[in-house]
Amino acid sequence: MAVVPVLIVDLHSHSRASDGLLSPADVARRAAVNGVDILALTDHDETNGLPHARAEAERAGLRFIDGVEISIEWGGLQVHIVGLDFDVGSAALNAGLEAIRSGRVTRARRMSAELEKAGIPGCFEGAMRYAENPNLIGRSHFARYLVEIGVCRDVRSVFESYLVPGKPGYVTHQWATLAESVGWILGAGGVAAIAHPGRYKFSRLEMRNLLDDFKGLGGQAIEVISGSHSQEHLIQFSRLAREYGFLASCGSDFHGPEESHVDVGGNAPLPADLTPVWTAFR
Ligand code: AMP
Ligand code: MN
Ligand code: MN
Ligand code: MN
Repeated sequence: MAVVPVLIVDLHSHSRASDGLLSPADVARRAAVNGVDILALTDHDETNGLPHARAEAERAGLRFIDGVEISIEWGGLQVHIVGLDFDVGSAALNAGLEAIRSGRVTRARRMSAELEKAGIPGCFEGAMRYAENPNLIGRSHFARYLVEIGVCRDVRSVFESYLVPGKPGYVTHQWATLAESVGWILGAGGVAAIAHPGRYKFSRLEMRNLLDDFKGLGGQAIEVISGSHSQEHLIQFSRLAREYGFLASCGSDFHGPEESHVDVGGNAPLPADLTPVWTAFR
């Protein structure tokens, strides 16, 4: 009997081009060492790490997929839409991502002002030291600075007490819309996937509304396996993928060896009856 090897596929990872800790090339090298067969780098709102990761991935003989994780607002919350296997030269996609990035610096100044009111000054400058790509300044960089100055013991505990709705340092922000993000990805010939759906604090009805809206716009995939999903999330989102006819995606959401409990390529494989998102890649 033929043995079909299970592919190791990680379609969600971050580098220093956004809020990861490794260079794009080092993410690809680490994926190769970990035996990954198909890798996507999906930095937040930024694609400039992709050529570096691709060059290294191809040198190591693994299949590389261009990716991005777009920050949007839906239902009053921040939601992430992953784009995969798109044309990196797409003018509309690049202009859209550029607009999101320019909003991040303004948001960071407002976050810093809120933290100052809470008695923690200097956070904008402090967080910026952690952002190799200043336009990608985000909450992870603030979290690393708050750990550095001893406000919290690790990044995880920062997100329990700061930077989230209702806690100091959180500000609302005008991200892109769901329709814009899906439109940019599809317009660039890519596949759109809802990132880590288990992370959003939506009711079951709100989640269904999100999936309905996403599908209505042409969204095709959903992350069933994610570094931030529990076993219950895996069951819940596998069921929804079957019901909606979504392709299934999987990824670690790796940010760095010191911060992520799931290494690049360390995510579980997809349930065998789901249709993997990579069957739709070019
Ligand atoms: P931003 O795009 O600036 O809103 O930052 C979002 C990023 O913050 C996510 O991509 C994660 O890297 C990080 N983050 C959000 N919530 C948590 C959490 N509970 N624990 C660790 N990191 C988190
Ligand atoms: Mn992140
Ligand atoms: Mn995310
Ligand atoms: Mn991510």
